[in-house]
Amino acid sequence: MGRCAPARVHGRPLPHRGARDPDLQGVDMIDQNSLKSLAAVHSADGVLVSAFISTSRLDDWRQTAPTFLNSESGRVFGELSLEKEPRRRLQEDLDHIGEVLRYEVGPRTEGLAVFADAESGSFERFELPFRLQNRLVVESTPYVRPLIHALSLLEPFVFVRVSRDESTVYSIDEWRLVGVEGHSGPYLKSTDRETGDVPVKEYYAAARQEALVDLHFKDVAAAVDRTLDETGAGRIVLSGQHDIVAHFRKTLSARAADVVAAEIPLDAAASIPQLLVAARAALEAARRSAMEGIAHRISEGLGSNGRGVAGFDDTLAALRRGQVQSLLVDRAYRPPGWRCAGCGNVVLVPAETCPVCGGAMAPVGDAVGEAVRTAVIQGAFVDVAEQVPELEAMGGIGGLLRYA
Ligand SMILES: [Zn+2]
Repeated sequence: MGRCAPARVHGRPLPHRGARDPDLQGVDMIDQNSLKSLAAVHSADGVLVSAFISTSRLDDWRQTAPTFLNSESGRVFGELSLEKEPRRRLQEDLDHIGEVLRYEVGPRTEGLAVFADAESGSFERFELPFRLQNRLVVESTPYVRPLIHALSLLEPFVFVRVSRDESTVYSIDEWRLVGVEGHSGPYLKSTDRETGDVPVKEYYAAARQEALVDLHFKDVAAAVDRTLDETGAGRIVLSGQHDIVAHFRKTLSARAADVVAAEIPLDAAASIPQLLVAARAALEAARRSAMEGIAHRISEGLGSNGRGVAGFDDTLAALRRGQVQSLLVDRAYRPPGWRCAGCGNVVLVPAETCPVCGGAMAPVGDAVGEAVRTAVIQGAFVDVAEQVPELEAMGGIGGLLRYA
């Protein structure tokens, strides 16, 4: 009786995070590294286009998207008084985006995000599985905040269905199920159908059966670790009979046990897609309570010698000092502001010159978006919360500091 081996592997092999899926040719998946380098792009002529366009059938996008792009182009050319060359480059960027819309949007895409800067020759596009609100922003830096929202909603995760003799590890990326790995324990695998022997169940003493279950759990736990490595997923959802799941949890490696975000009850009648929807919902609920927890820690840490910072000005000052470990923003908080061309400082109150360095200030549509972009460049965690009262009470933005 050997050790149990993976019983079957369906579907495609697990892609590495950021790898190109043959169905998604030419499409960049969002990952932290590409986001970080995108966030750091700075356009010298102040003309960098960030475009977010719904490509959902529900929005009749073939009609509405080109109309939106046209009218927004008119608005932008009217608002910005540009020299001849930046003007020509802006037109080039807009034409390029128009071409992508006409010819290159995949059938499953619901939202398109494009960042174009003809001056530096950079052109990044992201196709997303959900609708985006149409928006065109032309500033000196990319407006990455909507992508941060997308990332927080679409994080990849690992879902494990556990039983004593047959368990399955599913990996779900930003889009959908990408891998399934089943594991059968020896407990039921060698039945009389295969071997002609008496069923294992009768043959082994109860204690021996428990040892085999432990062995099975160890195999599944090893598969979970491997899947976390291969997919870059940071969270796990477990499903099964509660006492069995509790037993299985003890077998998980410390780092896997650390990222178990939720457990959903066993539902034998549910289809795989239904289970995954339930798992995603459980993950979302866990995320919400995590956001509430972070807001609470920030709130508790306010004041001198504390690790919390709240409100726009104080949070921005902490970001400027590179002190923020974790930034928390309210999804609905998007105040306009002013950004310094010299040092990147952002303020909410109109100012001719920068209070920090005396540089010239230019308007930005979403000052919190600039805070998010700065945090991304610094490698800080960025979390987006919705309707968390404690965050709202702190002015819609706050952070946990690396040190007090
Ligand atoms: Zn400045």
